[in-house]
Amino acid sequence: KFKRPTNQELLLQEILQEALDLPLSGESANYIPALASINPNQCGIALANLDGEVHVAGDADVPFSIQSVSKIFGLVMAMLRMGDDLWRRVRMEPSGHAFNSIVQLEWEHGIPRNPFINAGAIVVADTLVSHYSASKSALMSFVRGLADNQDIHVNQDIFQSEKMHGSRNAALAYLMKSFANIDADVNDALDHYFYQCSIDMSCRDVARSLGFLANRGVQPHSGDQICSRRDAHRLNAILQTSGMYDQSGEFAFEVGLPAKSGVGGGIVAVVPNYGVICAWSPRLNQYGNSCLGMYMITRLAKKLGLSVY
Ligand code: GLU
Repeated sequence: KFKRPTNQELLLQEILQEALDLPLSGESANYIPALASINPNQCGIALANLDGEVHVAGDADVPFSIQSVSKIFGLVMAMLRMGDDLWRRVRMEPSGHAFNSIVQLEWEHGIPRNPFINAGAIVVADTLVSHYSASKSALMSFVRGLADNQDIHVNQDIFQSEKMHGSRNAALAYLMKSFANIDADVNDALDHYFYQCSIDMSCRDVARSLGFLANRGVQPHSGDQICSRRDAHRLNAILQTSGMYDQSGEFAFEVGLPAKSGVGGGIVAVVPNYGVICAWSPRLNQYGNSCLGMYMITRLAKKLGLSVY
């Protein structure tokens, strides 16, 4: 089905160069100082194939703040621990509102629309805090194992900054607590959520870590069954409908791949039965998606005919 080019590295280099030649647009996230101070001109892309090979171009080995891309890792862990009970606490519908919006939560009795908006990810964090004795270290060993890289760490500057500027997330969590949809102490759920957002990973790490989503739940480089085929299907479905903030519909329309982005400028896109692409560049468009990341993933998907539709 797919056109696999003979020189994938060269193709990535070409696309990266095209992206770097575009007129500059967008701004880095500036809601916390630790993100605002990152060099905005960095740009990288990695493509991890199901045969275990990873092709890269540009700054693909520079660790960056994965932010909301981490919502995937938390969600996989919660799905594994909670089974179908999870879907009583969070739904699987697109929200049509900003990722950190609070209004819908009030109308919908504290049940978030999906696990990729902040409220949903905080519920997921709450389930992890309640089900693991040490949820933060469980998360790190899960992520390091998936990426096969023990050097993956949390950026402490970002973690502290998130906690100091987390009032809106705290408001979401307290509102959900008032509807009895947070079990743990609100501060513990938030602490886990901020910690998860503060993980640093490179494009190579992210692409490698999520190979199982492109491979019916089996991690390509280790052969481990990470989640069931059904859960891999479900994760991809929610990524497709809700992973790209308020541009999820347009991304499906133009590109046609399950994907998740974060305000650190990372975007990961899953190509079922082919591999995983991760692109990173800090300048964001009006929706909070990386401008150059969007460009590179769109170009690669079009050149290789990767759409799932
Ligand atoms: N730490 C950010 C927040 O909770 C994550 C936002 C994002 O990447 O979408 O606001």
